[in-house]
Amino acid sequence: MFIDSHCHLSFPELRERLPELLEAMQAARVEQAICICTTMEEFPAVRELARAHAPLFATVGVHPDNEDVHEPSEDELVSAAAEPKVVAIGETGLDYYRLGERTLAQMEWQRERFRTHIRAARRAGKPLVVHTRSSSADTLRLLREEGADAVGGVMHCFTETLEVARAALDLGFSISFSGILTFKNAADLREVARALPVDRILIETDSPYLAPVPYRGKLNQPAYVPHVAAQLAELRGVTLETIARQCSDNTRRLFGLTP
Ligand SMILES: [Zn+2]
Ligand SMILES: [Zn+2]
Repeated sequence: MFIDSHCHLSFPELRERLPELLEAMQAARVEQAICICTTMEEFPAVRELARAHAPLFATVGVHPDNEDVHEPSEDELVSAAAEPKVVAIGETGLDYYRLGERTLAQMEWQRERFRTHIRAARRAGKPLVVHTRSSSADTLRLLREEGADAVGGVMHCFTETLEVARAALDLGFSISFSGILTFKNAADLREVARALPVDRILIETDSPYLAPVPYRGKLNQPAYVPHVAAQLAELRGVTLETIARQCSDNTRRLFGLTP
């Protein structure tokens, strides 16, 4: 019934508990989950999860926060994206939250990396999984400049305004909500979730982070994604079944997942 469109099962704290997590998914009717890659060094482990387990899928890409890791070329991303069950390029994007002492000008490496991922996605014909934090204007600008609307994708773990969401929709992107939607202080985000077109909404856990209420602060896992769906259902005045089916249809369509 449900799909977790974004989780990090290759991270050690989840990977070491994999059999238990897969069982919990089944019990919670979470039928599929997309394992998101954050470094090229991690990609073989992400790919292996998808190869070994029918409900799991993989992506390839380098997260904007990761420094001192292998910088992928367009060719490397394109060839990894062609492997079986690799359904998207990412997560990629921009993150100016951890600037530290640096200026925006000094973050050109991050923008270059993002451009490489967008070009690779266009060549591979695969959607983008986009991470944006404290950087929405530049994220949208680069998506536009590089013609990301040719492939589309998802703005994952969305925490921006309705205006940013609408700009992303115009570029053919969908919007994915995480457990943040259930947090007490997320009233503005709930208004965004209420206003979006039903065929462009996805749900995710971003586990191991951001466990939804009532698990807030605990280790997150794909089996908790129904709590995000329940919040969305309540906000939009529809049943849990309805929102689950719609989000799952949206996810399968975007990433070309077979049920
Ligand atoms: Zn992210
Ligand atoms: Zn992530």
